[in-house]
Amino acid sequence: MESKAKTTVSFHSGILTIGGTIIEVAYKDAHIFFDFGTEYRPELNLTDEKLTTLLTNRLIPELKGLYDERLGYSYQGNDGEEYQHTAVFLSHAHLDHSKMINYLDPEIPLYTMKETKTILRSLNRNGDFLIPSPFEEKNFTRDLIGLEAHDVIQIGEISVEIVPVDHDAYGAAALLIRTPDQFLVYTGDLRLHGYDREKTEAFCKQARHTDLLMMEGVSISFPEREADADQISVLSEEELVQEFVRLMEENPERQITFNGYPANVLRFIKLIEFSPRTVVLEANMAALLQEVRNLKVRYYYAEENSRIQALDPELEVPYEVLINDQTTYLWQVVNKFENLQGGGLYVHSDAQPLGDFDPQYAIFLNLLEELQVSFVRLSLSGHAFEEDLNEIIRMIEPKLLVPIHTLKPEKLENPYGKRILPNRGDKIIL
Ligand SMILES: [Zn+2]
Ligand SMILES: [Zn+2]
Repeated sequence: MESKAKTTVSFHSGILTIGGTIIEVAYKDAHIFFDFGTEYRPELNLTDEKLTTLLTNRLIPELKGLYDERLGYSYQGNDGEEYQHTAVFLSHAHLDHSKMINYLDPEIPLYTMKETKTILRSLNRNGDFLIPSPFEEKNFTRDLIGLEAHDVIQIGEISVEIVPVDHDAYGAAALLIRTPDQFLVYTGDLRLHGYDREKTEAFCKQARHTDLLMMEGVSISFPEREADADQISVLSEEELVQEFVRLMEENPERQITFNGYPANVLRFIKLIEFSPRTVVLEANMAALLQEVRNLKVRYYYAEENSRIQALDPELEVPYEVLINDQTTYLWQVVNKFENLQGGGLYVHSDAQPLGDFDPQYAIFLNLLEELQVSFVRLSLSGHAFEEDLNEIIRMIEPKLLVPIHTLKPEKLENPYGKRILPNRGDKIIL
């Protein structure tokens, strides 16, 4: 008698670490993977991002049949299965979930929300966002299949529904995965304190009573820290923009600049909507808003020689005007910080360098101090707060919980069923 087919889940990477989540769900002759980024460890100071370098440093896992054959990779793991159907899904545009998509075999379909497709292509316009393919032009971005919310994709006998959630990357989504005998859920990255809270709540309803919830737990990774003196604490995206407005109102005669993380599209849009000053974005960011939301906003060129055809020349503000301004503009600064006015104010809103763990952060703070530019950190996590993680679990009531994308998986509990804490490379049979 033939043995009954089983659903298996392999945790290739992204366990006991933040970033680089790659999980495989297999059933019979089909298997799917999510996501396709790398672990982020700037302290390693790697001199290149070749496939072999990333593998040696364990920033990515051994994967059978997934990497572009032309890279000359030979699989070192022990998966002996053969599959007829393979697909990869991306939950959102953050680099720890997307950075190595150009290393994916060009024959394998890559699915994501249409917003994420647009963001990745836009951010990689100059070829400096994703890891480039050695076989293509520098600014190449491999094919992505952009989905509408709630589209369902069939891979062999596995079906995958893509479901939007709230995160600080616009277009972020979770996955509802069904095999003939199991209902599995991958949260991607999510939270309850952004503009799209109701999307996360609707997702939780759909995910209710899942057989296996694979859930991010970034926020519980770190002990509560005393806020830095230069940090303004806020608890929601609305509050963050209110604080931005307050800073402008309290400083009517200072140069005010800022930077943020480009994929957080809604933060930029709300800032433009509520700012008492005219907001001017760096041209690449302005192009992103135009491509994702068809918004035309004021912009300037941080690099004179990289003009973007799609932007309306009438909306350009000369760089010279911005560096001499004190009263009229709030503008996004991305380079040439040495041109800022002493006595000015710079607002760091989840821009690079992200924080202490990046050696560039201290260098950046020192530079601003030398220039006598006041530094204010106005940031907000893209990840659910600890109490909201518990709230999400309460809404879903999973039969089995697997905390991932966290340094402290043991801190997430499941009062509604079982929990397992896998190691990197573990495979479970459901
Ligand atoms: Zn993440
Ligand atoms: Zn993320």
